[in-house]
Amino acid sequence: MTDPARPGPAGEVADRAAAGFLHRYGEPPAGRWAAPGRANLIGEHTDYNDGFVLPFTLPLRTVVAAAPQDGGRWTVWSELSDSPVEFGIAEVTASGRVAGWGAYVAGVVWALRDAGHPVPGARLAIASDVPVGSGLSSSAALEAAVLAALVDLGGVDLPAERRPRLAQRAENAYVGVPTGIMDQSAVIRCRPGHALFLDCRTESVEHIPFDLAAAGLAMLVIDSRAPHRHAGGEYASRRASCEQAAKLLGVAALRDVPAAGLDEALALLDDDETRRRVRHVVTENQRVLDTLDLLRAGRIRDIGPLLTASHASMRDDFEITVPEIDTAVEAALAAGAHGARMTGGGFGGCVLALIDADRADAVTAAITTAYAARNFPAPNFHRLP
Ligand code: ADP
Ligand code: MG
Repeated sequence: MTDPARPGPAGEVADRAAAGFLHRYGEPPAGRWAAPGRANLIGEHTDYNDGFVLPFTLPLRTVVAAAPQDGGRWTVWSELSDSPVEFGIAEVTASGRVAGWGAYVAGVVWALRDAGHPVPGARLAIASDVPVGSGLSSSAALEAAVLAALVDLGGVDLPAERRPRLAQRAENAYVGVPTGIMDQSAVIRCRPGHALFLDCRTESVEHIPFDLAAAGLAMLVIDSRAPHRHAGGEYASRRASCEQAAKLLGVAALRDVPAAGLDEALALLDDDETRRRVRHVVTENQRVLDTLDLLRAGRIRDIGPLLTASHASMRDDFEITVPEIDTAVEAALAAGAHGARMTGGGFGGCVLALIDADRADAVTAAITTAYAARNFPAPNFHRLP
């Protein structure tokens, strides 16, 4: 059985999950299973265009402590909720549904059963230090940790490369959130100290060494704390624009428009907004490939300008940034960051800033000051390594 206990915060979270289980159910769990949060280094809104992404995991994790329970019933406690969620077979068949946060757990049970795997009834207790709703993928971390627990408890042989689709189905078809394959792939397939290059069309991956400390660098992950304004509707409308543009261009997905053919493709579109949406996706895919080349050559510092160009493209062409996010990026760059960009779907979420390790305090202070000057609520900072 997987034992995710490690020193540091991850160990604390695992201990909390086990202690929570003992407290709620009066006996120790059979095991603990973990999945991390993630950030996407570069490649935004490329996943549903069959393109490229480059996520890496964070030293934040969701841990599920679990044990089997008789009778085809599932009981779930989370630290984040005062009351448990309980459901049975009826809620994980075609007709039944669990609402609220429990849907992420029930959705995994549903997706496993729907794929023909046996799922034992179980009692679960969840602890996490992945911030919820900040774009660091607490939802995929929860799905992946629950999936790992249920698969192990059920003795199911489900290789890692088949798990992301299953977790994604739970989120898309059961919870009802239309996300691409990146989040689940990242939290299940990323290796520590590496970024994961993922081709979202083929789902082929390459593990790219991403050792910030060895390069004297650090990554600040800045939670903008901007409220997600209309994020769902805007996401759907960006996705629809891209699909419509692919149709007009006669390609299966915008991934099929090469950067070298961008001008030619833009000339075929008569709507300026659509042209800008296409330009973002096509140039962003190329930036992922350029970043990949630099990382393969061990040149982490040199990816800075690509990160910053990605941000400008999201701000000006894809129009998915908000003032808090732009403020954090500008302040980081002014304080000497090598590059900075929003990460995640947009309209809030987090900013990444690639900095010299010894500049962390100065960049953090600069962003805090810029926020205060605009009366934004203070941002939260995570730092890697
Ligand atoms: P993100 O994945 O960026 O954190 P989402 O909106 O996709 O944000 O997912 C957040 C939702 O996932 C929460 O509202 C909650 O329903 C569920 N969730 C995530 N982590 C937990 C947890 N530890 N306990 C209970 N629910 C959680
Ligand atoms: Mg999510």
